Amino acid sequence: MALMRSLLLAGSQSRWLREQATRRRFVQRAVSRFMPGETVDDALAAARTLQDTGIRTVFTYLGENIADPSEADAVTRHYLDVLDRIRMMNLRAEISVKPTQLGLDLGSELCYANLSKIIEHAGSQSVVWIDMEASGYVDATLDLYRRSRAARPNVGLCVQAYLYRTQRDLESLLPLDPAIRLVKGAYKEPASIALPQKRDVDESFFELAQQLLAARLRGVNVRVALATHDTALIRRLTEAATSMGLPKDAYEFQMLYGIQRAEQLRLAKEGWQSVVLVAYGSFWFPWYMRRLAERPANIFFVLRNLFAT
Ligand SMILES: Cc1cc2nc3c(=O)[nH]c(=O)nc-3n(C[C@H](O)[C@H](O)[C@H](O)COP(=O)(O)OP(=O)(O)OC[C@H]3O[C@@H](n4cnc5c(N)ncnc54)[C@H](O)[C@@H]3O)c2cc1C
Repeated sequence: MALMRSLLLAGSQSRWLREQATRRRFVQRAVSRFMPGETVDDALAAARTLQDTGIRTVFTYLGENIADPSEADAVTRHYLDVLDRIRMMNLRAEISVKPTQLGLDLGSELCYANLSKIIEHAGSQSVVWIDMEASGYVDATLDLYRRSRAARPNVGLCVQAYLYRTQRDLESLLPLDPAIRLVKGAYKEPASIALPQKRDVDESFFELAQQLLAARLRGVNVRVALATHDTALIRRLTEAATSMGLPKDAYEFQMLYGIQRAEQLRLAKEGWQSVVLVAYGSFWFPWYMRRLAERPANIFFVLRNLFAT
């Protein structure tokens, strides 16, 4: 299983594979399980349907590691437009951006300038989430977050439970009254900086979540988003939060579109905040490969689509 994960994550970086896969209809059909469609209209329509069931949305426009400032500018303008459309449609929705899609590889000033435009346009009521990418970007992403948070309140950050450093990072972030999305971590990292065993990552997620919930209990103004599809962990977390005396609306769960739909609905129905991240766009290959690596059984869906008529 670990070997399969490594192969899939290595494959996610391959330009050749990306070009092959994006042309194949059976792969496109398999991808549609996790994406309502490639266009922003598809994503907005999915959010409307989710909202009718009490589920909020976070949009992400797929893309990463752009190599030209004009591309980063186009992505920024795209997000400004999406924010306008969210407002026009009265959707309870936010957005999540990747620093390397806003130009981080080309310089942190360029990335910060683009990010600031988006955060400012979102307005104080709508948090702009910053995704966390591979470990080489963590310091730069934390800097971006600190600068952005000092300027405006409506910005959130993703942190990864598999990194040894995250407990310390959270300690230093909590005084900023942050919005934090905790995830397990989706990239291929060496054992020198990230927990290699999945069960240890699960445990680290539980401990870091408790660190966040305890801060909430002490009155720290932290927005706690627990982003996992792990139903056993979700149950443990809700039990821990309840025994700490935290109400259901003191924290939220975030999941990806198309994964654990029944659990997303159950949480919303039973009074927790349930949020779904909807990804869209044509640059889905590396993102999709990370989804396959999370659950190699998903390859079955790709193969099934190969033989479907
Ligand atoms: C809202 C959101 C935002 C994220 N943002 C980031 C980010 O910025 N940076 C980052 O590194 N990672 C991000 N991730 C991905 C995250 O790091 C994990 O890789 C991913 O969530 C899988 O871990 P898990 O906690 O769901 O549990 P796992 O223990 O991997 O899975 C638990 C169960 O969930 C189901 N499941 C999980 N993944 C899949 C899948 N792909 N297909 C089908 N079923 C699945 C299966 O039933 C599985 O048994 C994000 C995840 C979410 C939900």
